[in-house]
Amino acid sequence: MYILLMGPPGAGKGTQAERLIEKYGIPQISTGDMFRAAVKEQTPLGLEAKKYMDNGQLVPDAVTVGIVKERLAKDDCKKGFILDGFPRNTAQAVALDSELAAMGRDLDAALLVSVPDASVVERLSSRRTCKSCGYTAPAGTEVCPRCSGEMYQREDDKPETIQRRLDTYHTQTAPLIEYYRGHSILKEVDGDRPVDEVYADVKDLLSL
Ligand code: AMP
Repeated sequence: MYILLMGPPGAGKGTQAERLIEKYGIPQISTGDMFRAAVKEQTPLGLEAKKYMDNGQLVPDAVTVGIVKERLAKDDCKKGFILDGFPRNTAQAVALDSELAAMGRDLDAALLVSVPDASVVERLSSRRTCKSCGYTAPAGTEVCPRCSGEMYQREDDKPETIQRRLDTYHTQTAPLIEYYRGHSILKEVDGDRPVDEVYADVKDLLSL
């Protein structure tokens, strides 16, 4: 199963991806998680990425495509993968197509998790994230229910950055909806509902 999850920030892509990997045992490849890990470790990649992330902008394509290519070359991607948050613009989509062609693979589906902007703003501004494992929960959660790590508010989940991330999504990422519709692999799910309902539809749409 080779799929990618699209949708605005806070649409619940990560949550849906987690459910799918638990059930199907294929890796989730989240460029946002990879960048956050690099920021935490203060690697050169992290220091570079942080400048863009804190502003709600996309990390340059050369950097992003480079880390995805490296990740796709690992053995655990042979059975499939779930891309979460990549590609985020047309140049990245084209780079992914050529990488997959070189691997002799095709994407099975581009799954769009749709959520209106007002819900995105509400979700992100009240979202807290675990410093250790990345689990997300509503504001007021101080200890991670999964690993007991410390919860914090991501710098880019603060109100001033949320609007910029949405703008970036609409101008750069949303055009990919037509790109994948044109490739006849676009599937769309209404993400503005409880997680279980969304997941039930996701499984139907992916014929799982
Ligand atoms: P996310 O957790 O997917 O919302 O990503 C957090 C931030 O990481 C984004 O706002 C971007 O700054 C950066 N990022 C994640 N994925 C990409 C990507 N595919 N291309 C460029 N920047 C990305």
